[in-house]
Amino acid sequence: MRQLYHTTELIGIKDKNITLTKVFQRETHIEVQATLDYTPPKCCHCQGKQIKYNFQKPSKIPFIEIGGLPSLIRLKKRRFQCKDCHKVTVSETSLVQKNCQISELVKQKTAQLLLNREALTHIAEKLAISTSTVYRKLKQFQFKDDHSTLPEVLSWDDFSYQKGKLAFIAQDYETKKIITILDNRRQTTIRNHFFKYSKEAREGGEIVTMDMSGNYIPLIKTIFPNANIVLDRFHIVQHMNRALKQNR
Ligand SMILES: [Zn+2]
Repeated sequence: MRQLYHTTELIGIKDKNITLTKVFQRETHIEVQATLDYTPPKCCHCQGKQIKYNFQKPSKIPFIEIGGLPSLIRLKKRRFQCKDCHKVTVSETSLVQKNCQISELVKQKTAQLLLNREALTHIAEKLAISTSTVYRKLKQFQFKDDHSTLPEVLSWDDFSYQKGKLAFIAQDYETKKIITILDNRRQTTIRNHFFKYSKEAREGGEIVTMDMSGNYIPLIKTIFPNANIVLDRFHIVQHMNRALKQNR
C-alpha cells in the first residue's frame, strides 16, 4: 500500500515537478491547469549556470479520464536562461515526450484500448483527441525497425480505426508487445511486411494465433513455415501445454 499525498498522483501524474493550479469542470471535460517547475539544471549548451526565466504559454495535453470524464491538462512549462550563453531552454517532464503533445499515459491507454478491440474512433472520443492523432501517435511510439527476430508466439488481429477501415496488428502473445501495426490487412501488405524479416527469424515462429478469417491461413504458412496456427486464442494455453509435454 502506498499513501498518496498529492492530487497530481491521484489523477495519474507521476512527475513531482508538476503542480496543479486550477481545475475546472467544463461541460464535456475536466480542464486541469498546471505548472512545471524545478531548480534549473546546468546549461545543455555550455554547462553554464541557468536561472529561472518566465513560463512558456500553456500547452494543451489530452489526458486520461478523471472521474469518468475526458480531461485536458494546460501545462505551463518553466523556461530557463543560461547566464553565460544566454540561451533559453524549456523544462522537461516525463508526462510528455519532448516535442510531443500526447501524454505517455494517453499513449499507454490508447494501446490498451486498441488491444481490447475498441475502435480508434471510440478511443479518440474517450480520450478527447482526434482519430488521426491517435493513429499517428500510435504508429510513432511503438516500434523500431528490427527485422532480425520475431517472437515465438505471435498473435494477429485486426481492428477498426475508421468507419469501415481495418488495420492489422501483430503482437508478441506473451509480452503483449506490439510488433507491428499495418494500415490495412491486405494479404500483400502483411506478406511484404513479414518478408522483411530474415528466413531464420520467420522459421523461429512456433505459433501464430489469430481471430481473423481462415483466408489468412495459407499466408501464415508461407511466412512462418514451422508455425502451428491456433484460431481460438483461448485455447492457446492448452496448445502450449501439449507442446511442452511433447518436448519432455
Ligand atoms: Zn549556456
